[in-house]
Amino acid sequence: MYNFYYLTLFPAIINDYFSESIMKRSVENDILQIHTVDIRDFSNNKHNRVDDYPYGGGAGMIMQAPPIIKAIKSIENHQITPIIFLTPSGIPFNVEECKKLALKLKQSKQFIFLCGHYEGIDQRVIDRYVTDEYSIGDYVLTGGELPALVMSDSIMRQIGGVLGNSDSLKEESFENDLLEYPQYTRPNIVEQMSVPEVLLSGNHAKIKEWRKKKAVELTKIKRPDLIKIKK
Ligand code: SAM
Repeated sequence: MYNFYYLTLFPAIINDYFSESIMKRSVENDILQIHTVDIRDFSNNKHNRVDDYPYGGGAGMIMQAPPIIKAIKSIENHQITPIIFLTPSGIPFNVEECKKLALKLKQSKQFIFLCGHYEGIDQRVIDRYVTDEYSIGDYVLTGGELPALVMSDSIMRQIGGVLGNSDSLKEESFENDLLEYPQYTRPNIVEQMSVPEVLLSGNHAKIKEWRKKKAVELTKIKRPDLIKIKK
C-alpha cells in the first residue's frame, strides 16, 4: 500500500479527483491511500489566514512558513518521506522523471505533495524541508493541486496493479521514444471511413509491423524531437 499526502488549501480538489475512474479503483483496491492535509488547520491566525505580504514588496501574497511546517510535521515519517513541491521553477516533469519517481515511491512507500497558492511559498520551507521540485510545464497555474494530481496519476500508472492490463504501458506514447499508433474500435465503418484492412486480418505479425510503422510515421510528423536514430 502506498500513501500520498497532499498539503493544500483546497482538499476538495484532490478528493474529487480520486472519487472517479482508475484512480478511485486504486484506492478501493488498497493499492493507494490518499490523505489531504488542510494547511489552514495549522494557522495561528483567528481568521485562519496562512498568507502575508512579501518582504521587499511586490505583487500578491506569499504562503507563510509556520503553518506549512506544522502541516508537514503532522505527517508520520515525514523526515524520511520525499516532499515534492510543485512549482514552475522545478524540474520539468516528463516520462523519465515519472519512472524515476515511481521507483522512488516503491522504496519510500509514501510521498508528500506540497501545493502552493498565491505567489508561492516562503523560501525557507523549500530550503529546509522540500526534497524535490517539479514543474508540469512552462506556464503558470493558480495552484499546485492540478500539477500534484497530474504527477500522482502518471506515477501510479507505473505501479503494478493499477492498470487493468499492464501491457497497455508497453506501447503507450513515449515508450521507446515513440508516440502511440492510431487506434480503432467497432463499428468497422464510421461515416464511410473504414478501419485499416490489416487490423481486421487477424495476422498478428502484420498488425505489429503496421503499428510500428505508423508510430514512427506519426512521431516524425508530430514530435520529431522524440526520434533519435530510427528507420
Ligand atoms: N509566482 C510564482 C512564479 O512566478 O513562479 C507562481 C505562483 S502560482 C500562481 C501558485 C502555485 O501554483 C505555485 O506555488 C505552484 O505550487 C503552482 N504552480 C503553478 N504553475 C505550476 C507549474 N507549471 N508546475 C507546477 N506547479 C505550478
